[in-house]
Amino acid sequence: MTVARLIRHAGLTLAALTACATTWAQPFELAPLPYPHNALVPVIDEQTMQIHHGRHHKAYVDNLNAAIAKDAALQGKTLEALFGGMSQLPVAVRNNGGGHWNHTFFWQSMTRPGQGGTPSVALQAAIARDFGSLDALKAAFKTAGLGRFGSGWVWLIVGADGKLKITSTANQDNPLMDVAADRGTPLLGNDVWEHAYYLQYQNRRADYLDAWWQVVDWTVISNRYAAATASPAR
Ligand code: MN
Repeated sequence: MTVARLIRHAGLTLAALTACATTWAQPFELAPLPYPHNALVPVIDEQTMQIHHGRHHKAYVDNLNAAIAKDAALQGKTLEALFGGMSQLPVAVRNNGGGHWNHTFFWQSMTRPGQGGTPSVALQAAIARDFGSLDALKAAFKTAGLGRFGSGWVWLIVGADGKLKITSTANQDNPLMDVAADRGTPLLGNDVWEHAYYLQYQNRRADYLDAWWQVVDWTVISNRYAAATASPAR
């Protein structure tokens, strides 16, 4: 099997692999989207993807690098290392570091409509245990998304107790940060800033939250769940 076939077999794109390798180390870089800008139509329109990735996400990357360039103590650290001590760091690092991480995670969580498969057996079992059903998970996720006043994110996380939980953060905060009310390992996050949906959905955040499940990549989410719950190496 060729490398290209192996990559396809694993459900990854070359862009996604490149993103994994180059996104998290300094200087931070804007990786290309792992699919074309129109891949998520009709759930997310092409212009939204162009502006969201090419302008909003790019600005977070540029502003993060600029903030870190001013502070030698932050240089050489990974983003996830910075998140653990975020309460002590400049707000520009919090907003733009979160912005870079959250958006990269978000792009990687999505695929073409109808191509996202289903949760793995292990993840389905955890969803049944902690929510009752996938529909109940989606309903709780929607409630959290609608309840986030202003701008922020909705997350599905694995907590320190191993349980799945839905939580929401303001602005560009995320559950990896020490400032988060609910800390844990994110499996899935949706952007409920208006810039994520306004061109197509205007004020109808509920419709965006409903439609978004069509582009969630359950293969990626299931792999994250497996990694988050793997036994530590002995
Ligand atoms: Mn955004």
